[in-house]
Amino acid sequence: MPKIAVVGSINLDLVVPVPKHPRPGETVLGGDLAEHPGGKGANQAVAAARMGASVAMLGRVGADDAGARLRRVLDLEGVDTTRVLPVDGLPTGRALIAVDHTTGENSIIVSPGANTALSPEHCASEGALLRDATVTLLQHEVPPETVAAAARLAGGTVLLNPAPARELALDLLHMVDLLVPNRGELASLVGHPLPDLHAVADAARQLRGPAAVVVTLGAEGALLCEDGAVAFVPPHPVAPLDTTAAGDAFCGALASGLVDGRSLHEAVRRANVAAALSTTLAGAQPSLPTREEVARALG
Ligand code: ATP
Repeated sequence: MPKIAVVGSINLDLVVPVPKHPRPGETVLGGDLAEHPGGKGANQAVAAARMGASVAMLGRVGADDAGARLRRVLDLEGVDTTRVLPVDGLPTGRALIAVDHTTGENSIIVSPGANTALSPEHCASEGALLRDATVTLLQHEVPPETVAAAARLAGGTVLLNPAPARELALDLLHMVDLLVPNRGELASLVGHPLPDLHAVADAARQLRGPAAVVVTLGAEGALLCEDGAVAFVPPHPVAPLDTTAAGDAFCGALASGLVDGRSLHEAVRRANVAAALSTTLAGAQPSLPTREEVARALG
């Protein structure tokens, strides 16, 4: 049985480098379009597999060329795709990504397509996978009721990356063991802005439900809040080129650290390194580091 079950999205990313992000009503001339496999679910599955974990994905693609291609890519990464099924009548999910080529900052529009067909019934039909997985890895790019069903069926640690930000039902929050938001997602969960790290720490402490909260802080690293105790985990220094999927690199590496039996603090430290390395290469999945690359960076 795979140690990590990922219930999540599978998208084709259409990426354009831009000199600056367009404002509403503005047109910006970008560079050449590149297509990369993506989707938070698939990215996190690949991130964990590259870190050496055995991973199974539960997801949906369209019955189209993009869907077949994305499934093949996951197969080649060693992710178990027996539960990634094509659906008729919906296109494979797409993400339209603009990357500022000077700052590396991205903005993203997701068109979920076939990902919307991943249902609670599909989770129920894969109950054994979810019950036996050491970590079930969830994000917000599939329907909320599917995320809740997966969390309910999970027998191991439930890791929820609440991205993109959306309202979180209280009962779901209580089924989550480890919540991994970025700063913006945490702000939207607590309902107020988080101007500094003290505010981030207070907000993480304030959340009721998950046993631990890990907040990703971009270039500032991460914050770990466990049993009310807060620890900052410093960033791994890099010159970022493209931050797309940094959060996914982080979550996949974190899940893989946990199935390796590492402490949460040590798993966060390694996830920080994996995520930092992912910002030094372009694209989502192409930028995700291997276990060996992370080990080398740790020295
Ligand atoms: P994205 O949406 O771009 O995938 P995110 O907003 O989900 O990212 P961030 O908090 O920006 O997540 O970044 C995730 C992790 O990536 C951080 O916790 C950190 O470990 C690493 N990281 C991101 N940017 C940098 C950077 N400039 N230098 C070092 N590490 C970084």
